[in-house]
Amino acid sequence: MTLPEMIPSVGFSLLFLVVLFRPLEKLFPARADQKFMRPAFWTDLLFLLGQYLLWSGLVFWALNHFRGFLDDFVPSNFRVAVASQSWWLQAVEMIVLSDFIIYWAHRLQHRVPFLWRFHSIHHSAEHLDWLAAHREHPLDTVYTVGLINLPAFILGFPMETLAGFLAFRGLWAIFIHSNVRLPIGPLRMLIGAPELHHWHHDKARDAGNYANLSPLMDILFGTYRCPDHEPDAFGIHEPISKNYLGQLWHPFRRR
Ligand SMILES: [Zn+2]
Ligand SMILES: [Zn+2]
Repeated sequence: MTLPEMIPSVGFSLLFLVVLFRPLEKLFPARADQKFMRPAFWTDLLFLLGQYLLWSGLVFWALNHFRGFLDDFVPSNFRVAVASQSWWLQAVEMIVLSDFIIYWAHRLQHRVPFLWRFHSIHHSAEHLDWLAAHREHPLDTVYTVGLINLPAFILGFPMETLAGFLAFRGLWAIFIHSNVRLPIGPLRMLIGAPELHHWHHDKARDAGNYANLSPLMDILFGTYRCPDHEPDAFGIHEPISKNYLGQLWHPFRRR
């Protein structure tokens, strides 16, 4: 598909996200005074457009190569044994394993300076909403998407089986960034909630809430944080360019 051919579908996706998340942000705002066109709106919009129009191809290409690379290593009788289980058991195995891997992979992004160079772009957002979810360096996306799919690739799930789950997980990742605070009480410990991820973006952060679906791993490994109010500020302390290209270049700057 050429770039001009992609524009209508990107426009539709954008509209879909606004229609889905904007009413929630209006009805249950985490910060009632935050406007739709808040500061850095255009930077984050460029991240969204870049993701859809330029980088999704790179991510997909890297993912396919990674999958092909793994195919050479995993014994086929292992995959036959996995496939012989009931579908729900396979689904549970895949979700728990990928939650476990992404939890530790995310902790590493905060711990290893080389990974933080890329991941800090995502954390530089000072206003969180459905759009800020897209502020992510494309190589950071390759890292996350590759690792989150690792169990599915090893266990040998066909891409078609995964598609529905991947779409849901993608939307959930946008939801937890949205400017929303829903009164769901202790249910958030089971299914997760935006306020947990908002605390992950706390500017004065110590650590916490690394999971992006259920917070089970955070509870298990002692990094679950859920104060009853929103953080004072989001963002990072280190200096970082405010514009799209500057942020893309940020990990490669000499320091
Ligand atoms: Zn993070
Ligand atoms: Zn985030």
